[in-house]
Amino acid sequence: MPSNHISNKPYHDWLAEKYKGLVCPKDLCVLCGVETKWPVGFTIELRSHYVEGVGQLCDQCSEETGGDIHVHPD
Ligand SMILES: [Zn+2]
Repeated sequence: MPSNHISNKPYHDWLAEKYKGLVCPKDLCVLCGVETKWPVGFTIELRSHYVEGVGQLCDQCSEETGGDIHVHPD
């Protein structure tokens, strides 16, 4: 094993410790409420399954609806 693998170990331990418990909140699917992979505040242009005027969908809801969701104001 190259020696740098050994010398990196404390660094990785330190990183793991540093980010332990640091969980980025994720947006929830507007239909079923499941947690999506997109962090809250993540730019919507780079997201998939985001429906403008509706919100974030999970993979499954997006597949089931085909992204064809409309807001019906009462
Ligand atoms: Zn969903």
